[in-house]
Amino acid sequence: MKLYNTLTQTKEEFVPIVPGEIKMYACGPTVYNFFHIGNARTFMVFDGMRRYFEYRGYKVTFVQNFTDIDDKIIQRANEENVTSEEISEKYIKEYFKDAESLGIQKADVHPRVTENIDEIIEFIDTLIKKGYAYEVAGDVYFDVSKFKEYGKLSKQSLSDLQAGSRIEINEDKKNPLDFVLWKLAKPEEPSWESPWGLGRPGWHIECSAMAQKYLGETIDIHGGGGDLIFPHHENEIAQSEACSGKPFANYWVHVGYLNIDNKKMSKSLSNFFTTREIAEEFDLEALRLFMFSAHYRNPLNFSRELLESAEHALERLYNAKHNLEYLLENAKDRTEIETELQKSILEYREKFIKVMDDDFNTADGIAVIFDLVKEINTNITADTSKTVIQTAYDMLMELTVVLGILQKEEEEYLDEEIEQLIAQRQQARKEKNFELADKIRDELKEQGIILEDTPQGVKWRRV
Ligand code: AMP
Ligand code: ZN
Repeated sequence: MKLYNTLTQTKEEFVPIVPGEIKMYACGPTVYNFFHIGNARTFMVFDGMRRYFEYRGYKVTFVQNFTDIDDKIIQRANEENVTSEEISEKYIKEYFKDAESLGIQKADVHPRVTENIDEIIEFIDTLIKKGYAYEVAGDVYFDVSKFKEYGKLSKQSLSDLQAGSRIEINEDKKNPLDFVLWKLAKPEEPSWESPWGLGRPGWHIECSAMAQKYLGETIDIHGGGGDLIFPHHENEIAQSEACSGKPFANYWVHVGYLNIDNKKMSKSLSNFFTTREIAEEFDLEALRLFMFSAHYRNPLNFSRELLESAEHALERLYNAKHNLEYLLENAKDRTEIETELQKSILEYREKFIKVMDDDFNTADGIAVIFDLVKEINTNITADTSKTVIQTAYDMLMELTVVLGILQKEEEEYLDEEIEQLIAQRQQARKEKNFELADKIRDELKEQGIILEDTPQGVKWRRV
């Protein structure tokens, strides 16, 4: 399997540290608001990667954190006159609700900053002892000049960065690029006891400390949205590698932006849609299909038209699924099976793996699924043997579950499907197969569809 590594800027053969096992960390949300579908793209990509690795037989340990203390959370709490804990608790719950509706599975661990303060303090203490960090009046900074490889992820040299950095007003720092590990508490803000007085962690340190605690000093994959490459991930590397003396993550994976009108969807630009807003208008599985229709590293432009076409595409998949279900119920077991067709259906697994192994190319993976559907629609009929229909059904479900689509048990048939079943019933009647015709009528009845034979043909209504 090949994976693009931001660190080496090449697609590399993916080799985990322990054969067959993957330790993966993704930066999670800052919980002061509902997440938007730009965030959702990144969460979905890591969910999809994890599903795919598991599909390929790896045992994956996946950690995604919650930043549950930060300036924006505190500000929100002040605005609403509640504690920052109440804000973060609320939006963690909302995260899980939205994630579930988007088919994003829970990570193995969702650590929170406020539950890992001791580990963070210990981490900072080690950095100070090793000479990589210094304290100034209750604040602790990372000394960027001590970490010689600073800039290696974002491909910037320390001197370029220094030349480009603004002269900050902060007199405490030795170097404008130094970043805060621990902040002295301001009055009224949440704070914790530490060797440097009452304070709270800076942003970057949490991921280094939590990745180390839950996954170890060197992990296989670390990722997030592309906006995190600098400074967040650059700083994580500096902290973690300075602390352990070992590589932090072997593969750095970054997700392209979800754009709107070719601008990054972001909270600060107020050009975003939340998951719930989208759910009012669209099927969220269609949103998933849309997200995976582009390669994860490429930018993806959001539009209603594209979501609508994703809905139509999804409908095609559901039609195929339901047709196969219907055919299966009525198929006959036979000793003779269509071996060529069986073989051809089974080949879609290899085709899917081939493209997905190439840096998780879901766009091509989806194309393979639609080729399979085309084959099903063309070659599987009521005369096909049960074994082959079952193979086709299993293959369709096997490939789609990796992308987290086609997972709904439809309570209600879509109009198009009803029409199809009615046509099949008419055909059965013409062939004097009254048993099948009645069976279709009964099945439709179970779905709340009543058929009426009229001189103008069959009419149907929902009851
Ligand atoms: P935040 O809550 O802002 O820290 O973001 C959570 C995750 O969403 C991070 O990995 C971000 O990089 C990612 N993210 C934010 N905006 C977008 C976007 N428009 N497209 C893709 N990923 C994004
Ligand atoms: Zn992080």
